[in-house]
Amino acid sequence: MSWEKNVRRVEPYVAGEQPKREGVIKLNTNECPYPPSPEVGKIQEEMDYGKLRLYPDMHAEKLVHALADYYHVKPEQVFVGVGSDDVLAMAFMTFFYGDKPILFPDITYSFYNVWAEVFRIPYKVCALDSDFRIRKEDYLRSNGGIVIPNPNAPTGVLEDVSLFEEIIAENPDSVVIVDEAYVDFGGTSMIPLINQYDNLMVVQTFSKSRAMAGARIGFAIGNEKLIHYLKDVKFSFNSYTMNMPAIEMGTAAVLDDAYFKEMIGKIVKTREWTKEQLKRLGFSFADSKANFLFVSHEKVPAKDIFLALKANNIYVRHWDKERISNYLRITIGTDEQMEKLVAFLENYLK
Ligand code: PMP
Repeated sequence: MSWEKNVRRVEPYVAGEQPKREGVIKLNTNECPYPPSPEVGKIQEEMDYGKLRLYPDMHAEKLVHALADYYHVKPEQVFVGVGSDDVLAMAFMTFFYGDKPILFPDITYSFYNVWAEVFRIPYKVCALDSDFRIRKEDYLRSNGGIVIPNPNAPTGVLEDVSLFEEIIAENPDSVVIVDEAYVDFGGTSMIPLINQYDNLMVVQTFSKSRAMAGARIGFAIGNEKLIHYLKDVKFSFNSYTMNMPAIEMGTAAVLDDAYFKEMIGKIVKTREWTKEQLKRLGFSFADSKANFLFVSHEKVPAKDIFLALKANNIYVRHWDKERISNYLRITIGTDEQMEKLVAFLENYLK
């Protein structure tokens, strides 16, 4: 049709399946297998629905202050959004506006290239080495911005803060976004370094370690000026993105630190158990510090295992993509779910 020449055409991001059927063991989108803090449930039960006639606080101050207190930063250094996807999209739009290509790893969160395409940002991917490690020198060349997850996804590999510090220090003309979606499961956050590096922006989410993927909450922490620019773009796009219940529930989750730590402890313990079992069954993988493992079997192709699991109502993630087509990403579920996975694999691989 003739109007199509004026259309912004993009190939959208493909998220993991959300099966509607009951009884599925869902280990494909890195959700938390446990519910959020009971304090979050209380908010929902006690919420005055009459308040919904009003617009929410566009600054989400309550949540911003709770996060600022929790991470020992100023409220002016915090930005919140509808999941970290929203925060990252806004950050791409705000900070990656130069002529030079932005840089990110070849094996990484598959939304980065989609945002780059939709916002027409030039980009270059930097190949991880054969152990899925970042090659620092790739990021020490001319660029228009950098985005890297730590731990990386879908590999689960955690890099040392010192590697990132070097990249950030060597790139004073670029904003460096460190996507810490999985940092709570065993990494060290770079948030304490935001006063030292004015080009560092750390992004985190409530979707994994805070068990609230359904509430859609993400946030960024960085230098005040950087956050200010981010807000200018956000308020030029859609002011009221964070809804009232999400602001309240997110705040309750941050305040219940004991529950947060307990749940992470459980997931880490299950992860370490799962590592041992999968090794025993002939899988190999880089050591993961996230709530998932990225595994490859010595004999059986990943796709075959993926399909066999799916046929048995166990969903994991597989990509038909260069370099990673023989890998499966398996989210850490409850002990019971992981026992069922291991039992199935044990039988299947015989
Ligand atoms: N970053 C990474 C590395 C992720 O894996 C995800 C989860 N898909 C996100 C960001 C976005 O998560 P959310 O929008 O749920 O916060």
